[in-house]
Amino acid sequence: MKAADQATGRLPGDTCDRDWIWDREVETEDHAQALARGEAAWEQQWRHLMESSAFYRRRFGEAGIGPDLVRLTDISRLPLTSKADLKEAIDELPPFGTNLCVPEERVKRVYQTSGTSGAPSVLALTPGDIEMWTTIGTRTYYTSGIHDHHSVLSTFGAGPFVAGHTYFVLARIGTRVVPLGPGDADRVLFGMRAGIFDTLLTTPSFAQYLANRLEAGGEHVKSLAHIVTGGEPGGGIPAVRDHIESVTGAFVNEVMGIGDIAPSLFGECPGRQGMHFSGGGHVWAELVHPDSREPMTIEPGAIGELAYTHLTREAHPVVRFLGGDLVEVHGGDCGCGRATFRMRIIGRRDDMFIVRGVNVYPSAILAVVARFRPRVTGRARVVRKGANVSVEPPVPIEVEIPDGASADAGLKEEIEKAVRATLTFRCRVELITESGFGEASYKTRLTRKT
Ligand SMILES: [Zn+2]
Repeated sequence: MKAADQATGRLPGDTCDRDWIWDREVETEDHAQALARGEAAWEQQWRHLMESSAFYRRRFGEAGIGPDLVRLTDISRLPLTSKADLKEAIDELPPFGTNLCVPEERVKRVYQTSGTSGAPSVLALTPGDIEMWTTIGTRTYYTSGIHDHHSVLSTFGAGPFVAGHTYFVLARIGTRVVPLGPGDADRVLFGMRAGIFDTLLTTPSFAQYLANRLEAGGEHVKSLAHIVTGGEPGGGIPAVRDHIESVTGAFVNEVMGIGDIAPSLFGECPGRQGMHFSGGGHVWAELVHPDSREPMTIEPGAIGELAYTHLTREAHPVVRFLGGDLVEVHGGDCGCGRATFRMRIIGRRDDMFIVRGVNVYPSAILAVVARFRPRVTGRARVVRKGANVSVEPPVPIEVEIPDGASADAGLKEEIEKAVRATLTFRCRVELITESGFGEASYKTRLTRKT
């Protein structure tokens, strides 16, 4: 595994003398300072909500909350907001919903959601919102180690999804930008061989796909120094990361965001001790218990779901929005000097299932499957019937193998054995070739529901 220079926020081998923290004042402040900054912004945001959000006025009213300011320290008095609540608000008054808090003519940018859990929805931004997302994203990508002397190829499309906002961020940092779009492996490889970029932004599954292609061709590329993954878990799973690193020679770390909040909200510094929160002053994050939804303290070792509140969002502000990810908070000093909290994703709440009373996340299965390279590609998913959270063993798992791989009689049993040994439940593995498994370039779902 590649190691970052100790106690710096720089990538291995990077000797540049720039400050490696973009927004030193915000990113190094302690909790009391962050709270004071948050409260000041929230006071204004509260007024904005009360004046302009039919949606939140009604929701707060239903919860018995009047127009008097509820401080951030008491924010757990306010109701939580789910993805379904926002969808309802949009459906009530399309296209922008009863949660739109500005006149339509102030909306200057609109992204769409993937609609993986229903019809696509829209995200409206004012110029101020565009700037806010760019500010947070810039902290995030700068944290990952991308600075102005780097050349970045992005496989994120300009739209319709929020990942397209990354182009504003790269321009703000001042990198060289090589815009591409999803799924064009040939052009990525061309650019790699030509040496026109040294940093790649991609989903971990596409990075795996590229690594598999390079490995199959026995090709060694020298120009690639850094891969930043986002959009899905994987870049933080050691087995996945190590394979991509060993084939490409690049340093791999990850970023993460939530479309309804900010597309790049957490960035992992080269110290790789979890992803730093980058939303200071613009987004307030809370940890809630995954079942009871009671507030929890953000402290090392705590496991819960994050809920987010916008402090400066104009068009589509949310209050206590449930992100849907189960996270573990990481502790201790991070060598990079940021004081922001760090976390790693354990899994999507929706993807979690229970086998004989034990909670299982598909990312744990991914980590086991990844050990079987190069006989497998590294992609896998759990097949679940209907909406049942409980799954009876043997748990059906589909594992992708390279196209044209010769029949590997022992592989299926070996993976089943390894899952049993590591995760303690029985599974039934089905091996599927790449062409049968589906596109590698899009967001890979770790669960297939039938
Ligand atoms: Zn750090």
